[in-house]
Amino acid sequence: MSSGARLAQVAVGRPVRGAYTYAIPEALESKLVPGVRISVPFGRGKALGFFLGEATAPPPVTPKSILEVLDPEPALTPDVLRLVTWAAEYYRHPLGEALRGALPPGMAELRAPPEARAKVLTWVEPIPRASDADDGEVRGALMRAVLSYLEACGRTEMEELSGAVPGARDAVKRLAARGRVRVTTEARDDSPGTGALAGAAPLELSNDQARALAALEKSLESGGFAPFLLHGVTGSGKTEVYLRAIAKTRALGKRALCLVPEIGLTPQLVGRFRARFGDEVAVLHSGLKDAERLQEWRRIRSGEAPVAVGVRSAIFAPVRDLGLLVVDEEHDPSFKQDEKLRYHARDLAVVRAQHANCPVVLGSATPSLETLSNARSGKYALLSLPARIDDRPLPKVEVVDLRIRPAASHQPPATDPREASLLSPALKQALSETLDRGEQAILFLNRRGHSTFVTCTVCGLTVTCPNCSIALTHHLARRGLLCHHCGHTAPLPEHCPECRGALLRLGVGTEKVEEEVARDFPAARVLRLDRDSAGDAAELTRTLADFARGAANVMIGTQMVAKGHDFPGVTLVGVVLADTALAMPDFRAAERTFQVLAQVAGRAGRGAQAGRVLVQTYNPDSDAVARVVGHDFDGFAQAELRRREALGFPPYAKLLAVRVDGLQERATIDAARRLADVAERQIRRGREPLRLLGPTPAPLVKLRGRTRWQLLLKARGHAAMNAVVQALEAAADELPPGVRASFDVDPVNLL
Ligand code: ADP
Ligand code: ZN
Repeated sequence: MSSGARLAQVAVGRPVRGAYTYAIPEALESKLVPGVRISVPFGRGKALGFFLGEATAPPPVTPKSILEVLDPEPALTPDVLRLVTWAAEYYRHPLGEALRGALPPGMAELRAPPEARAKVLTWVEPIPRASDADDGEVRGALMRAVLSYLEACGRTEMEELSGAVPGARDAVKRLAARGRVRVTTEARDDSPGTGALAGAAPLELSNDQARALAALEKSLESGGFAPFLLHGVTGSGKTEVYLRAIAKTRALGKRALCLVPEIGLTPQLVGRFRARFGDEVAVLHSGLKDAERLQEWRRIRSGEAPVAVGVRSAIFAPVRDLGLLVVDEEHDPSFKQDEKLRYHARDLAVVRAQHANCPVVLGSATPSLETLSNARSGKYALLSLPARIDDRPLPKVEVVDLRIRPAASHQPPATDPREASLLSPALKQALSETLDRGEQAILFLNRRGHSTFVTCTVCGLTVTCPNCSIALTHHLARRGLLCHHCGHTAPLPEHCPECRGALLRLGVGTEKVEEEVARDFPAARVLRLDRDSAGDAAELTRTLADFARGAANVMIGTQMVAKGHDFPGVTLVGVVLADTALAMPDFRAAERTFQVLAQVAGRAGRGAQAGRVLVQTYNPDSDAVARVVGHDFDGFAQAELRRREALGFPPYAKLLAVRVDGLQERATIDAARRLADVAERQIRRGREPLRLLGPTPAPLVKLRGRTRWQLLLKARGHAAMNAVVQALEAAADELPPGVRASFDVDPVNLL
């Protein structure tokens, strides 16, 4: 029967385009199933590869043979293989590397993955304190972090705990010795499908929640692909709808996958999932250690954990029999990956639901205009939760106009603007009232550090990063200057490096706000939440848990404070400066501003007391700011969609960004021009109405020492770009060494 060896199509896990052909040794024939990991000779050594199927066409040269099959069962389940294949094609990325990227560490390497761990669960639970007096025993930061986590989440499995709080194992031992936690073990096989904590009473649904859930349940029962937009104002109880829909999915014998933004994966949210589904839940977040991630991946793969919750990359989790996908805060930019396979997890969720023939729910208070227009055109079914739970009012939003009025400025300004306070009298007053009432406040400013730039008062020089075209930020805690893009640090110079003039620190960051609040409100207990303070997952967890239990009454932070947190004690939100995002060179600047303002405003008044929001701005008349005041998402979206249509931007057009970067400026610019010529020629040849913008220097023209230029292609649809993209890819392969071109389909970050 055999007329020579059979041939395999193989994706090699390296950044190389196209599939390779290898010969199949007879001994391996029976083990080769699509998606299985294999070892193949590649270049002068070996490489990890993935068997895709048998090759039909004979290869141009005599093929080498597959060396080894690495898995007893394919690491890539059929639906993950299908999803990644789709994504690699759509996002123009080499398939083998994309497949590798979809696997947890350990599985993405040629060496054998670590053994599965013993099937023993270690549960840790807090022991309530008899009195406050004995807290002196718990001094270590780690022990306190563990206690905070347990207070927020209740009984927790050790794996998860040490994922959230690195080093938790030792701290638990010390806490157990002090009688502060109880540790119990149980064999995993003995534990039934739902753990001890499962079954925490579901809430009684509001009418709106019930209506939304009914629509989802109907769709779950009838099966089939069905995309939904769950548009619910902040505090309307979207999470409860997700939990109920997931419970229904489980009751139907199917499994569920829920994606949340990076910072959305808080102990609070995990706690709500765990309370409902116990150890049926697997959590995939960025704080996991490699072994833990692999462990969670295996629990999902084996079906032991049929409810997977995770950040962006969890879209590739090996959930079989998928019955429901949920994307919470679907508008969040963290769903877009900015390197290698530049996928958007929300968009892939819709594709995966299509493949799995199941419903997908995209939830948000401020849906992306892309998703909104899909709902308006009827592609997605719209479910609305227009009011907060218990008819709590949305917070009252007031604008504080920061502009100095020319009419009033006959007399010189009372203070030098550099000395001016960051908090207006109105905001100070509101803050002081809030604290007096024993309530909590959030102050939001989307810039970290102390001063965002340092300028010479004599020659005007601004101290910039030597590697990036951007000013260095002054950080008090680090006692120096930091580049927010490449991490370059430098001491704060005493004089201007050019003219030795005196330097001035300008621009405000969260550290400066913290300094001012500490000065003006000495009794306030202040926490700061930004990427500096939340150094690791443990620290972040502790800050959020501390604020939740009222250990602090003012939380100051960047957009990290704006995400889905539910702190019922917060009655005041102050936006220190609304304008930071408005001026970004990005067609989504207004949308982002509206989203972040509406989200942060949504943190106020979620409990029994009504909330108040003060927005300080120099642009009170901008549409984004004005519409947030009226909680007018629909009005904002309507106007913004009209602008997008007039300018031909998404959702009315598809974009592809081609970024060219290199160490040498001249060569990079030449390469960008060459690619632009190729694109122009192809556009003229084709019949599609395509537009090319650029080549232009990227807004961040220098980053990590590399010069960056970009082209932007606009088309009515995706297919229309194909010919141009293929021509560009061919040209990109011919660029001189040292210059790279990368393709970003549906780009989010245009810097
Ligand atoms: P969203 O995600 O829409 O901002 P959440 O899901 O966080 O809102 O819900 C807001 C608050 O309301 C939470 O504290 C939640 O426990 C509570 N909640 C949700 N649904 C109900 C309900 N049906 N009855 C009572 N409380 C509810
Ligand atoms: Zn830099």
